[in-house]
Amino acid sequence: MSHTRKFTPPANFDPQFVTCQATQMRIDIVKMLTHAGSGHPGGSLSAADIVATLYFGGVMNYDPQSELQGDGAPWRDRFILSKGHAAPVQYAALALAGYIDSAEFESLRNLGAMLQGHPDASKCPGVEVSTGSLGQGLSIAVGLAQGLILKGQMGRDGQTPPQIYVLLGDGELQEGQNWEAALYAAHYRLDNVVAIVDRNMLQIDGNTEDVMTLGDVAAKFEAFGWETASIDGHDIPAIHEALTRKRTSGKPYAIIADTVKGKGVSFMEDVAGWHGVAPCAEKCAAACAELEQLLKDSKDVMDISAAVMEGGGAHG
Ligand SMILES: [Mg+2]
Repeated sequence: MSHTRKFTPPANFDPQFVTCQATQMRIDIVKMLTHAGSGHPGGSLSAADIVATLYFGGVMNYDPQSELQGDGAPWRDRFILSKGHAAPVQYAALALAGYIDSAEFESLRNLGAMLQGHPDASKCPGVEVSTGSLGQGLSIAVGLAQGLILKGQMGRDGQTPPQIYVLLGDGELQEGQNWEAALYAAHYRLDNVVAIVDRNMLQIDGNTEDVMTLGDVAAKFEAFGWETASIDGHDIPAIHEALTRKRTSGKPYAIIADTVKGKGVSFMEDVAGWHGVAPCAEKCAAACAELEQLLKDSKDVMDISAAVMEGGGAHG
């Protein structure tokens, strides 16, 4: 029995609302991984602010009702989680957005379940592409972007093609296929491709620069003919500004987002060991205590802002 929540994607950007959604997503990530007993907390938590801004900051155009029951919403923007092992961050967003029931969290990583260890488009509503074999998401994004242009498909504004947002891990940029896709996107001027690099400087075997130096990722994309932005990947207004910036270069766009692996849980932050280990019940309780306090504080700030607005800025 499905109990997906009714949710209308916000048209406008409210940073406090996005902060609350990101924190709720972090709580859901920690809990679902603890229940599963395996999975990837570090890279799910590092990407939470980026994914929350895409889904809840008025950036992506989507509509679960028409996508799942109506005409399929061909105008929708697409999101591809190239770093598919961070699936819990996508599942947390899809539940808050009304694509899936949060009761599904308890079946994470069960054989045949909706929420596979890596996103499965044949099983999970709202997942556009099955991912997890690293290094392939950018190629898929580029093909999808060009296909929609060739088809003449317009986005929700009726004037520009749908945007294809692809979230890449930094470690997976060591795979050569990314750079062929980067060349292709620039050659065909696919400016509806937006690649976001979760630059947390860590991968399963340690620091990315020790495993295989990536160096200046923005400079590399620029050399391949891309427009770039470099931001703090936990600064929600900065993420929003980069994602909604008016661009006229005609080039594909890469946002290099500096992040902290495990962000939001003090004992997981910047620790490579939390790449692929689920928390035990005790660690889960400690993590959730921190995150729930953060959520309460964010909601208090949101209530105060709302009260001030209702009072017409009543400080005078
Ligand atoms: Mg990484």
